[in-house]
Amino acid sequence: MSASIVMPRIMQIGAGALAELPSVLARAGVARPLFVTDATMVSLGYLDRATAGLEAAGIAWGLFDGTEPEPGEGSVLEGEAVLRAGLKGEAFDGLVALGGGSAIDTAKALSILGPHGGRIRDYKFPRIVDEPGLPVIAIPTTAGTGSEATRVTVITDTDADEKMMCLGLGFLPVAAIIDPELTYSLPQRVTADTGIDALTHAIEAYVSRKANAFSDQQALAALRLMGPNLRTAYHEPDNAEARGAMLLGSTLAGLAFSNASVALVHGMSRPIGAFFHVPHGLSNAMLLPEITAFSLSAAEARYAACARAIGVADDSHADAAANARLLDALRGFNDELKVPAPSEFGIDHDRWVQLRSLMAQQAIASGSPGNNPRVPSEDEIVALYDAVWA
Ligand code: NAD
Repeated sequence: MSASIVMPRIMQIGAGALAELPSVLARAGVARPLFVTDATMVSLGYLDRATAGLEAAGIAWGLFDGTEPEPGEGSVLEGEAVLRAGLKGEAFDGLVALGGGSAIDTAKALSILGPHGGRIRDYKFPRIVDEPGLPVIAIPTTAGTGSEATRVTVITDTDADEKMMCLGLGFLPVAAIIDPELTYSLPQRVTADTGIDALTHAIEAYVSRKANAFSDQQALAALRLMGPNLRTAYHEPDNAEARGAMLLGSTLAGLAFSNASVALVHGMSRPIGAFFHVPHGLSNAMLLPEITAFSLSAAEARYAACARAIGVADDSHADAAANARLLDALRGFNDELKVPAPSEFGIDHDRWVQLRSLMAQQAIASGSPGNNPRVPSEDEIVALYDAVWA
């Protein structure tokens, strides 16, 4: 059986890669890009660094710096207005996304809304959006969502409190610039949350029912890079080796899940983000150990391979022993990286109990739990929300 694999046409990877933006734009055929970013990227000087060589290369650019974390439709609409206004009467011909998954996902949404119109909810799963949009050049500053290499965007429908997953070739960046120097400034909390997000992508892609020979290799390579470096990046923000391994690992994890799928952790995580405003990586981290414990029995050999790739087990450990070590390691990451339980995050318990059935229904509707090695019923998802509470 064959698998259909998609990835960006250009990936410029390594320290200092940002300096190649003018040549990447030229190779992608983009001469009038709109930069899509947030105020933090501007104040850190990253926008200046990104745009430094553009004038000399004859590239005129515009700016939308109003993206918000975990983007809702409101900020996407603001960006759409800037995109439609164009630059001195001429239309933008591409988008440069500079930032974490939130800026990249906003740019991806704009790339489809620009040429095709409508509301972003018109494009949510199960619709598959394969029509081409404006070309996106993605420059990630977190390590991370892997969005620079995925055919996915996630935008919150604030009316319905739903994180909408939108999927298809139209959302795949044409190019990615993967420069770990942009991640040194990440605060500890964001380093932890986005690092565990990437780890979750790799594990879920590897155990997914849609895993294939290509996604398996990306997932295992991602785990080998990130397993030994997650703690180091958290404790030593300027450690070039750890930051480099985490960013490359997160991109490979993105390739893995985009060409396989995510599973139950992500399915249950999105509603927590939408209802309780928990950052995406953090809600994944809250869930990962408990959901792994629930799922292990259905894919023992696969989870054991994850344990070995992360480096917490080796060939001398039988699968059962490797799986026990994997659970210990995931709980250990959460302890050391100070991941709070939902109860410690300040979520109201009555509201959690009141919403857990609706969250379970939204999780199932997203399709992700159906890719899990152990496919849960709605009641089992409700019980899992109870289990992770404390
Ligand atoms: P983010 O983009 O929301 O960034 C979190 C915060 O960190 C922001 O305030 C941002 O300004 C700041 N920040 C980012 N980079 C920084 C840096 N280098 N230095 C200092 N501060 C920095 O976080 P994220 O986890 O990268 O993205 C989360 C979003 O991505 C969620 O909406 C999630 O649903 C989505 N997501 C998308 C995909 C996909 O494939 N499209 C995959 C997973 C998650």
